[in-house]
Amino acid sequence: MNPEFKGFMPLSLAEFNTLTGLLSKLLYTQHPPVIIPGEAILGIEAVAAGIAAPGRTFVNVVTGPYGRLFGQWLERGGAAVVEVKVPFDEVATADGIASAIEQYQPDALSFVHAEVVTGGSNPAQDIFKLAQKYKLITVSDSVSAVGGEALHVDEWGVDFAVIGAQKALAGPNGVSAVSISPRGWEFLESNPAAPRNSILSLLDLKASPEGAALLRVPPNIPTLEARALIAALTQVEEEGLQQVIKRHERAAASAVAGIRALGIEPWQKDSRHYSTLTTTVRITGREGLLIHQPIGIVAPGDGELSGQLLRINHFGANASRNSVEKAITALAQLLEQEPGQALQAVREVWGE
Ligand SMILES: *Cc1c(COP(=O)(O)O)cnc(C)c1O
Repeated sequence: MNPEFKGFMPLSLAEFNTLTGLLSKLLYTQHPPVIIPGEAILGIEAVAAGIAAPGRTFVNVVTGPYGRLFGQWLERGGAAVVEVKVPFDEVATADGIASAIEQYQPDALSFVHAEVVTGGSNPAQDIFKLAQKYKLITVSDSVSAVGGEALHVDEWGVDFAVIGAQKALAGPNGVSAVSISPRGWEFLESNPAAPRNSILSLLDLKASPEGAALLRVPPNIPTLEARALIAALTQVEEEGLQQVIKRHERAAASAVAGIRALGIEPWQKDSRHYSTLTTTVRITGREGLLIHQPIGIVAPGDGELSGQLLRINHFGANASRNSVEKAITALAQLLEQEPGQALQAVREVWGE
């Protein structure tokens, strides 16, 4: 056996510390995130299971399907859940959330930071500011935000931020992370209903009491995925997080310019709140756009949004001029138009 090959060797403590260090840096937090041994959706369910309890009230913002699911998990845990819902072609507003907080006096506020399913990005910083004013515990599903827009966990007072690498970070989907603030840990620890000895138990995954040096790697971390995540995060660091974000901003701006040049419109109404990972396209009245199979990074809408919108998934390695050009070309073909002018609009945004 090649002695250099360590693919299946257990993760070393040094590798584990590298991983949590890269994640802390990515999220601008001094509290090392918990590594979740599975897809990000496991981290989201684990947060809900850990903090939901009878007697606790949550304001849960629903701007897409993931938010709805989170609310259902909170209810399963016996919590009272006040849903602040907006049509899926809009994003939440701090004012709308504030009136629910005034009315229901919740313990915590949860929302999906940015939505690839609807192409909307919620005004996260305003929402965290609002939560700070009311001293609420905050939960954000930032899986489709991290790497595509800013996320400053400590400065913004984010108590639970769930992230995955399979979207903007061009990493694996088999391992993910939850960043938890000291206040977030208290909220978990003071919950008698928080799971223990369970795949949903964040308390069992807590690395070490109050920052003491870790003596061994938590045994359940998937080794190959953890190494792949280290590789992806190292690449992000090499490119520079700001540059990765900028690349996603450009991809989104160029996709919007391209579809507008084709005479079609984004599904999301407010151009100040477009996701930088996905551009959604309104189908209404355009029979040619009714696809049922993805064409490259152009995909039909999920679930109830099927037939209403198309998604251009320009994230990760596809946050590039080339990928956006291919997507715009595919849309032009569906519309039986020449793509030339739209491709020119794409290139202008990239400044090339
Ligand atoms: C992709 C995504 C997830 C994670 O889903 P996986 O099942 O882990 O791929 C969670 N929330 C949002 C908002 C997402 O876009």
